[in-house]
Amino acid sequence: MSAPNKSYDPVEVEALKPEEIARMRDEALDAIAAAGDLEALREVKVAHTGDRSPLALANREIGALPPHAKADAGKRVGQARGQVTQALKARQTELEAERDARVLVEEAVDVTLPYDRTPAGARHPITTLSERIEDVFVAMGYEVAEGPEVEAEWFNFDALNFPPDHPAREMQDTFFVRGANEGEPSGVVLRTHTSPVQIRSMIERTPPIYVICPGRTFRTDELDATHTPVFSQVELLAIDEGLTMADLKGTLDHMVRALFGEGMTTRLRPNFFPFTEPSAEMDMRCYVCRGESVGNPDRPCRTCSSEGWIELGGCGMVNPRVLIACGVDPEKYSGFAFGFGIERMLMFRHNVEDMRDMVEGDVRFTRPFGMEI
Ligand SMILES: [Zn+2]
Repeated sequence: MSAPNKSYDPVEVEALKPEEIARMRDEALDAIAAAGDLEALREVKVAHTGDRSPLALANREIGALPPHAKADAGKRVGQARGQVTQALKARQTELEAERDARVLVEEAVDVTLPYDRTPAGARHPITTLSERIEDVFVAMGYEVAEGPEVEAEWFNFDALNFPPDHPAREMQDTFFVRGANEGEPSGVVLRTHTSPVQIRSMIERTPPIYVICPGRTFRTDELDATHTPVFSQVELLAIDEGLTMADLKGTLDHMVRALFGEGMTTRLRPNFFPFTEPSAEMDMRCYVCRGESVGNPDRPCRTCSSEGWIELGGCGMVNPRVLIACGVDPEKYSGFAFGFGIERMLMFRHNVEDMRDMVEGDVRFTRPFGMEI
């Protein structure tokens, strides 16, 4: 058995030579300095301080040295590893600070940018005006009634006292639905007015009846500045005992005051409709000039063409023949009805000059009315 190797010189171990330790350390320090980001630094850390790094391997060699040489070599390796660890820490702090600064710039939020670039949607002014009119009548106790847009001819014409050969059927320029066989009438039309809803209301309800019927209606007009094949109407029907033209007039006056302001009034001019008797055209006071433009060339009014009145629609007392068709006893009950176009009211109420603006769906038209939801 041999004695311990007292003359073992640590310098002889290649990995523990001072210059070799210095080279490993410098290599590590250079790599640390060269690491451009935290990811690269992580790789450098594994390569130069991990279990398989040159300095870690050199550290393992120390155990094999004779006791007197261990301290020296241990100190050298320990110092080198300490310097590398310190350099790593410093570079880590530096790179983290750089990253934080970059994130602050790259992910900065400009609080002065507009936050509400996506405008909220809104309903069309036709809808909102129609609902405003409904509200006036609902507040008076009326019910809102609706009916189909594709309607039986009987509801659209016959029940309303239009005989089969009545010229109004032609005058109204109706969209007829094609029958199952070529040339055979289907008896179905796109409703030309909301009046069939009144008929349905009288058949379905028992008097007293107070309904308001808003809805879309159809006629074969070309779309131009003053016509549209699809338009909206509001019709009103009241059936009760003892109703007269005075009730009709009072209701109309109340409506125009509610919609256009205090002091507004209406006037009736004789006319003819098959479904009312007597019938009248209804005009409302011009809400802009209040009639002061009449005979006053110095103050012309565009809204009423200086006539002082604006034509609103038709009205009258429900024709007894219509009451009978709907099973209402004309000896006991009477009623009044009126109807007008929403588009027309929107035009003079808001100075809309072209009807096409209302159907084209351009948001630039809708926006000035306010984004009412
Ligand atoms: Zn006027």
